[in-house]
Amino acid sequence: MERYLDDIKNGKASVDDFLKRTEKMSLIVLNELKEKSKTWNFSEQLIQDIVPKEIGRCLSCGGNLIERDKFYGCSNYSANNCTFSIPKQKAGVTITKVNIEKLLTTGTTSLIKGFKKNGKDGTLGFY
Ligand SMILES: [Zn+2]
Repeated sequence: MERYLDDIKNGKASVDDFLKRTEKMSLIVLNELKEKSKTWNFSEQLIQDIVPKEIGRCLSCGGNLIERDKFYGCSNYSANNCTFSIPKQKAGVTITKVNIEKLLTTGTTSLIKGFKKNGKDGTLGFY
């Protein structure tokens, strides 16, 4: 390849030829990848990591609540600008999915250990 680039510099080969060769090689690599991808084994976990998992219903618009990087958010965010979200962490305490599910169905979580309210373990809820 480098030799070929030298040839171009020296006017022995054309840039067009070079591009065509590069294109051909890219195609070969792509096709190889396509073939290989058929035998790739995605583990269940990996798929779950890629596909956003539905946590529950959005209390604002009824959309799906899905797990994001730092919070649980409404999947309709891009569709109807719904900004309903629940942080994954609050007051330094991680809000678990179990808590979120309870919060969405009953409007409040169970007591969250370390989630202090007036010096006592408290709940997170919509008031
Ligand atoms: Zn929503």
